[in-house]
Amino acid sequence: MALKLLALGGDGIGPEVVEASLQVLEVASKSVGLGIDLSEDLLHGACFEKFGRFIRAETLDKARHSDALLVGATGGPRWDHIVVDGGPEEQDGLMKLRHELQVFACLRHARAHEALLARTAFKPEVIRGADVMVMRELCGGAMFTQTRGIDETADRGRRGYDLNEYTEAEIERFARVGFEVARRRRGRLLSVDKSNVFVAGKLWREVVGRVGRSEFADVDLTHFYTDNAAYQLCCRPADFDVILADNLFGDLLSDQSGAIAGSLGMLPSACLAELPVGGRTEKPAIYEPVHGSAPDIAGLGIANPIGTILSVAMLLDYSAGEVVCARKIDAAVDAALNEGFATRDLGGTHSTKQMTDAVIRQFRAL
Ligand code: NAD
Repeated sequence: MALKLLALGGDGIGPEVVEASLQVLEVASKSVGLGIDLSEDLLHGACFEKFGRFIRAETLDKARHSDALLVGATGGPRWDHIVVDGGPEEQDGLMKLRHELQVFACLRHARAHEALLARTAFKPEVIRGADVMVMRELCGGAMFTQTRGIDETADRGRRGYDLNEYTEAEIERFARVGFEVARRRRGRLLSVDKSNVFVAGKLWREVVGRVGRSEFADVDLTHFYTDNAAYQLCCRPADFDVILADNLFGDLLSDQSGAIAGSLGMLPSACLAELPVGGRTEKPAIYEPVHGSAPDIAGLGIANPIGTILSVAMLLDYSAGEVVCARKIDAAVDAALNEGFATRDLGGTHSTKQMTDAVIRQFRAL
């Protein structure tokens, strides 16, 4: 059975990096006899220009009936200040997709690439071997709450608020995916919270601890306060395996961990709606680079496609169960970098196409 894939290039460099990574997917999937049933559509700004809304009902329906979605990036100065009716998820086509598909577990992977060690802000001996998976809860907390606004209080004047709330069930389902991901990696899970200050953080720590003790005793669980985790991630990045964080802390720590990879353009992500039981997920999952639409370089053919190519590797891993093929893409990326291929963000002069061709050539040679 072919894998049903919906590709949504989005805005800015999004369509460029999606096109590049689809070429890699074609070669990789053929090498393992995996059929891809591909359809493409518009998202966010590109959709707004044509249809006057950030995402169409048809697209949402297609997404619900897909195995996986590959998204480029959304947003840009032309649309960033447009406000439409509805909550936070209605203001952005990608947020709406995440909400509708309930892809609550976002895996953001950052690893040190030998060829790029000198481009990072770290000493090579500190960064070498670093390989961190930051897991960000994606559908709850202060960033998705409906309890938000700006109002006028009688005694204190204007007040802005976004309620940071998590139910026990939300923490539990997310923790299970975190433990499973840790189990598939080096077996270490670091859960971060501010349970010294926030009551929601106390529940977070209690529930993660209980799930770990009762269902994943083989995984080594540690709890850190988030501020300490951020500091330790700077001092000894190579000691981290999987970090489990809520929506806000995960947003911050995943960008911070991006410093390990040498460029924002290098980071992939997978957003899952369930525990990947038996190695793969059945519900539609979203794969996308961590970077934005980079309007400053859109259309120039110089965007780094690696974040999206590595997202395709995560897609093969989590939505198709093709782990060996996925790791082969990771290896092909490293081989292309070791060969000296580098886009401008990596200090080189190679185009998106040259970088993509180099990865494909290396994949075929492995
Ligand atoms: P950005 O990630 O688009 O760009 C930041 C800087 O990194 C820019 O200088 C850009 O040229 C560079 N860069 C990013 N990706 C690159 C790549 N693949 N290759 C080479 N260079 C790359 O962040 P921003 O400028 O803060 O945001 C631009 C727009 O993207 C905004 O509208 C923002 O809302 C949106 N955004 C979207 C997403 C998403 O779709 N998931 C994420 C972040 C930002």
